[in-house]
Amino acid sequence: MSLAEPLAVDCSQVVKTFGSFAAVNSVDLKIPKGQCFGLLGPNGAGKSTLISLLYGALYRTSGSVSVLGFDPQTQAHSLRAKMGIVTQENNLDMSMSVRENMEMYARFQGVESAVRGQRIDELLEFMLLSHKSDVVIEKLSGGMQRRLVFVRALLSNPKLVILDEPTTGLDPAVRQLLWDKIMEIKQSGVTVLLTTHYMDEAERLCDDLVIMNEGKIIETGAPKVLIQKHNSQHLEEVFLKITGKDLAKND
Ligand code: ADP
Ligand code: MG
Repeated sequence: MSLAEPLAVDCSQVVKTFGSFAAVNSVDLKIPKGQCFGLLGPNGAGKSTLISLLYGALYRTSGSVSVLGFDPQTQAHSLRAKMGIVTQENNLDMSMSVRENMEMYARFQGVESAVRGQRIDELLEFMLLSHKSDVVIEKLSGGMQRRLVFVRALLSNPKLVILDEPTTGLDPAVRQLLWDKIMEIKQSGVTVLLTTHYMDEAERLCDDLVIMNEGKIIETGAPKVLIQKHNSQHLEEVFLKITGKDLAKND
């Protein structure tokens, strides 16, 4: 990627159809490097589908996609070495320990064996998981599993981290911990793209965001700017005003 390239993600007119249904419908998305960027919307809006197009888990029907200068459809291998992904489901190996899961993923990500052990130690410590290193995943709480999936995505020192609903269903203490750690990686220069249907999460973390509904982007801007523009108290109310839908009922 050229140093002059200011965008981590650059999508134009992206469409993804399943049969005749457009889950992603003519989406333009430009994410500057170094931001924490939010993709907001209710369940079924098309957030996970759009994200899958960004790392090559799904192929787009039409449009153009560039992520860190790569086309995820034809250059997925090069791209994935530079990015971390936290999918909506945890996809851990339940029969292996915390450390074994980290080791397996580190090998998969091509982290050199000489630095692997130390990198895993550092990341487990970063996420306050060191004391769980030898515990088998099936014995871990949902919150612990989510924390592990998050640091696992950092193994390759990614330039971009994509988090699909990082805190859905978690208790307030774990949410707060994840928020703190997301801010820390952002401050270290990593670009973060997260999806959420929690407007408070977006308000707290995101420099800029888009609101998606029924496959389309219906609003774009910084949280404070959108709140002012729609003469609202918070993002929840912005969403209600734009769509007539109550997002809180969407959990
Ligand atoms: P979100 O992540 O915002 O909740 P999704 O991207 O998961 O939304 O889904 C968007 C829409 O696309 C939903 O209506 C969903 O049912 C549909 N959808 C997602 N994946 C598939 C698929 N593989 N086949 C058919 N429809 C799908
Ligand atoms: Mg989703």
